[in-house]
Amino acid sequence: IKIKITNIDIPVAFASAFEGEIIRRGDMQVEFDGSRVDCFELVQTKEASEIEDHKIEVIGPDIDTFEVGSKHSIGYVVEVAGKSMQTDFESVFERKFHSYLNCVEGLMHTGQRDMIRIRISKDTFNAGFRAKHIGEVLYAKVKNEFAAVVDKCQVKVYTDAEKCTELRHNLAIPVFDKRDERLTSMTDESVDVYYSCIMCQAFSPSHVCVVTPERLGLCGAVSWLDAKATNELDPQGPCQIITKEKVIDERIGEYEDVNEAVRKFSQGALEDVSLYSIIEKPMTSCGCFECICGIEPLSNGVCIANREYAGMTPIGMTFSELASMTGGGVQTPGFMGHGKHFIASKKFMKAEGGVARIVWMPKELKETVAERLNETAKELYGIENFTDMIGDETVAEDPETLLAFLEEKGHPALTMEPMM
Ligand code: SF4
Ligand code: ZN
Repeated sequence: IKIKITNIDIPVAFASAFEGEIIRRGDMQVEFDGSRVDCFELVQTKEASEIEDHKIEVIGPDIDTFEVGSKHSIGYVVEVAGKSMQTDFESVFERKFHSYLNCVEGLMHTGQRDMIRIRISKDTFNAGFRAKHIGEVLYAKVKNEFAAVVDKCQVKVYTDAEKCTELRHNLAIPVFDKRDERLTSMTDESVDVYYSCIMCQAFSPSHVCVVTPERLGLCGAVSWLDAKATNELDPQGPCQIITKEKVIDERIGEYEDVNEAVRKFSQGALEDVSLYSIIEKPMTSCGCFECICGIEPLSNGVCIANREYAGMTPIGMTFSELASMTGGGVQTPGFMGHGKHFIASKKFMKAEGGVARIVWMPKELKETVAERLNETAKELYGIENFTDMIGDETVAEDPETLLAFLEEKGHPALTMEPMM
């Protein structure tokens, strides 16, 4: 018999109403910041014998020993066991931590994996909130929401800085790398099915993401493996299996079965989508895309802007201006929201010639994707260090200057077929 836990043993309120709560520097008791010190969050599958259900351990000093307003390391490992548990579910649980912890009154959580940041307010600290309560929240929510696969759960919360450094590098990062590698070795051709995701229909009622091994959801948070696990955990849930047996057009990645699924899940709002084109029947965009790419006519290519980039693009629009015309769950030929990881995919704009169309992106984004993108360009076109040919805001923010730079570099987009 599985018992549903409805009460969470913490000294402050827990409700989705607190999810958007911002905690300002002056109001915060303590901060954990993965961009400055070693932090991580992780789910690990264990044998039932290794787990004492509801055991919450804090390894290191508690919050009340920290100076007000100071910055620290934190790592927490949620260990689970269950007959139907699979390691593929681990990342799906982890993705939920953000929303679980944000439901705590006076606690703010951002990011995931080893790039998390947590702030705890003075009021919440004064109410008695301590490190173990993070464990209490995660324990209760994981046990409750994943009761179908989790029989036993325990949580280890590390606040010892040295321990966080050691575990981040020797435990967490290898797990994250292994997950990413598993996906890297998969292609769209190597699987029999894709998955739909409609988690964003709360905000974009007709939006459907089609998630494939080489094209993750545009939020960047749902890979094919995640969608598969989400489907297995909740077969009636947001991710449904889509077969891909009836090819209509291999070039743009259009399938009759994918179209049927998209029609059904968009309640008829969408007729047909392609997987690999931004001009012909492009996939829709909701609002939470990590990046937007859009056609830059003068250079015969596309510019990409990521959400963090506040400046101008050579298209003549900022990210938010691009977002306001691309979002909302409608098809916008020539513009498309997508995940960061998709930029180095061999399926990125495959119908229009692939990654060779990328002529500009913000410097920081370019650096993030450089290694994988250069590998892809080398494999597809035999070009070395392709990112050196791509413009950024330090080179140009207008189309004319960009074109001169691309000509100087001999960028391949200039000699490709006209896009429009
Ligand atoms: Fe799902 Fe797409 Fe929304 Fe990501 S952006 S949660 S993949 S619908
Ligand atoms: Zn969305």
